Amino acid sequence: MDPMIERLQSLIDSAKSICVFTGAGISTESGIPDFRSQNGLYRQNLTFVDVVSRSFFERRPKEFWPLFKEIFHIKMLHEYKPNRGHQFIAALQSGGKDIRVITQNIDGLHQDAGNVHVYEIHGSIKKGHCPKCKTIYDLAYLNEKDIPRCSHILENGRLCALILKPNVVLFGDSIYQFEEAVEAALNCDLFIVLGSSLEVTPVNQIPVIVYQNRKVPMVMINRDETRYDSLFDLRIYDSIGEVVSKIQTKSVR
Ligand code: NAD
Repeated sequence: MDPMIERLQSLIDSAKSICVFTGAGISTESGIPDFRSQNGLYRQNLTFVDVVSRSFFERRPKEFWPLFKEIFHIKMLHEYKPNRGHQFIAALQSGGKDIRVITQNIDGLHQDAGNVHVYEIHGSIKKGHCPKCKTIYDLAYLNEKDIPRCSHILENGRLCALILKPNVVLFGDSIYQFEEAVEAALNCDLFIVLGSSLEVTPVNQIPVIVYQNRKVPMVMINRDETRYDSLFDLRIYDSIGEVVSKIQTKSVR
């Protein structure tokens, strides 16, 4: 067996609780493009970062929604299914390990695979809410119209009708559940990063915080190098699906 796979297997076998930190790279094998592959959206002189930002949403919400839906393939979202990477993490959980997933992804595929403890740091694309009355709407509702509006009837009997905001952390928004995620990361026996360039702040500080506490082995599985690679005890530069298909997911010893 490849010595790196053997080492990964041994680290997984010895761990009772594993914190898995995932990025867009875990979902590429489900057909969802990652961030770096998109190379920016040049449309009306806008870039990806311009569109997926709080200020753009607040200034031009009618233009925001069609572009946002196109960037994140919202109409096709129900067609994306968990792949070998997501299934592997879910299998570790059903094999008896305590699994915490910290994900930067907004696609909901970890929950679809069956993982229970998932910290969606950047929110979920499958929900939206009214910025005024806070009513929550599901994906089917968001997809009904090009520009989704709130259908809640206010106390004065009038339709709220405000343009909804996706439950996604836009550039300029605060992230969700950061403290809970850090706590999960600091309370595991093994910390694994799967498919992230670790370029996005402040979530890329979570591996740094784990490293500084230095209590647990750290593993990275990613196709490309990142600037934080030296933090990790084991680095495997390969496709996540290929690597995890060689690992046994057994019960806690
Ligand atoms: P990123 O695009 O910056 O980096 C992805 C990394 O994954 C790259 O380093 C690449 O080498 C690696 N990778 C891609 N496919 C892989 C595979 N099959 N096996 C192993 N490695 C693979 O992603 P990021 O670090 O998550 O940052 C992107 C930001 O964009 C995040 O904030 C995320 O919220 C958002 N985003 C989310 C989705 C999603 O929900 N699926 C998709 C695109 C972007």
